[in-house]
Order: sequence, then C-alpha cells, then structure tokens
Amino acid sequence: MNILTFDIEEWALEAGRKGGARPEKIAEYDRLLDQLLEILSARKIHATCFCTGLMATKYPQILHRLVENGHEIACHSNVHTWCNKMSREEMQEDTHAAVDALEQCIGEKIKGYRAPAFSITAQNPYAFEILAQNGIEYDASIFPAERDFGGFPSFGYDVPTRVQYKGIEIKEYPIPLLHFGKWKTAYSGGGYFRLFPYYLIRRTMNKADYAMTYFHINDLISEPTKLMSREAYESYFKEPGTLINRYKRFIKSNIGTGDAMTKLIRLLRQNDFVTIAQADMKINWNEAPVIKL
Ligand SMILES: [Zn+2]
Repeated sequence: MNILTFDIEEWALEAGRKGGARPEKIAEYDRLLDQLLEILSARKIHATCFCTGLMATKYPQILHRLVENGHEIACHSNVHTWCNKMSREEMQEDTHAAVDALEQCIGEKIKGYRAPAFSITAQNPYAFEILAQNGIEYDASIFPAERDFGGFPSFGYDVPTRVQYKGIEIKEYPIPLLHFGKWKTAYSGGGYFRLFPYYLIRRTMNKADYAMTYFHINDLISEPTKLMSREAYESYFKEPGTLINRYKRFIKSNIGTGDAMTKLIRLLRQNDFVTIAQADMKINWNEAPVIKL
C-alpha cells in the first residue's frame, strides 16, 4: 500500500516574508501545483494534503481546488512553527487555530496532522494529547530515524502504529525507512527522494506492505535554491544562521533537485497511491503494534 502526501505551506510562508510575497514565486508554486493536479487527475490518484492554517486563511482558493479534485485536507500546524520549538500552551493554541481555520475553509472535519519538520520527538510526547484534544484521529509526524531537526529514532516502528499516551490513542503513520542491515534511512520524500536513484525508491516501495511519500512543493522546484540570508535562516530554522549552518543547508537542499519532479511524475505513472483516509479503511488496527509513550 502506497500513500501519497504533500505538505502545503509555501504560498503562506512567502506571503509572510518581510516585503510581502514575490509574484514570481507565487506563480511558480501555482504552476507546479497545476502540473501536479493535472497528472493526479489523469491517473485518478488522490493525495492527503497537509495544509497550514494560514494557507486556509490567506489562500482558501488553493484548498478549495484540492478538495474539488478529490484530495484529502489535513493539518500541517497553523504558522509552521515546529512543535518542539513551542511550549505546550503555544502548541495547543497553534493546533486549535489551524484546525479551526481549515475546517471553516473546507466545511469538513479535519482528522489528520503532520508536524512541521517532523517535530514530534521523544521530548514532546504530550503533542499527541494536544492532537487528540483538537479532534485529530491520525498523525503522520513521526520520522523514526536520526534527523537534523526533529526525528524520533527510538520510536522503533516504520509501519502504522497505535500510539497511546495518558489514556488517549492516535493512529500513527510514520515515515517508512529503507533498511541496509542495521543502517536505516528515509527514502520516500524530501531530500532523500532526490538523493536515491529512482529504481531503488520504486523497488523499496513495491516490496513494502506500507510506504508513504512526503513532498513540499519546494522539493519539486528544479532551480537550485540560493544560500539563505542569516535573517531568513534564523527565522525558519530557529538556530544561529552561521555561514557553516547555511552552507550545510544549501548543499542539502540542492542535492539532485533537478529531477525531483520528473522522478515523481514517473512514480505516479507507474504506481498506485491512496490517501491516508483510504489507507485507514484497509488497515487492520487490531493487529497494529501498540506504543505507549
Ligand atoms: Zn512543512
């Protein structure tokens, strides 16, 4: 079973820049979204789109288009602040605002959540309690391997799992991993999707009982990204924007960018995908592993 997911935030982040949104950037995001929606509709594939609350308030027309095309809307926080950079109260406020904005925009209950930058970790398991309090039934925030930011290597599972925390339960769809003996790595989204060869990604997905892709629109842009300014880096990553940190990010975000969209289109032509809501009906949750945090 292959699940297709996208995180939708770029338009709203661009609008939040000092000086406002650059029209050429917005046009580029629009063009990539058009291209994606076209191929998904031709292949009759639906995706789960994790949108920020700000996308619903500032760009509701994009969410309406996604819904009209049969895609599932889920929550990707309100303003894209990472959960592990917020206090419990701040995350509660952010999640409440996001779910409220998304539900108002599409007129349907929001059931799914993905934290920005996979920022539910061993340090903030109370995040699950906040999600349950806001009516969230499933989460797709766990990156069960080492990662620069976020990541939950001790989670131990890369298949659908029932997470229990202080009397609540959330269905977890973690990022699937590619296992090379003891070494494990993500492969099905972001920079990893650009890094690994197409045949390896496709073969791993087809062999697995469970796979889930994850893309931001930015992951599909073919122009190399520029070195971020110190100010932009610090406002996004919430850590010192030293030259070394900025160069590391520059190299990572430019690995294989050129063919990410081509690769994704090829994958969409050759494989079937479902949304998380569709996957949810196929999973036998009674047999899923249970994790108590
Ligand atoms: Zn994001």
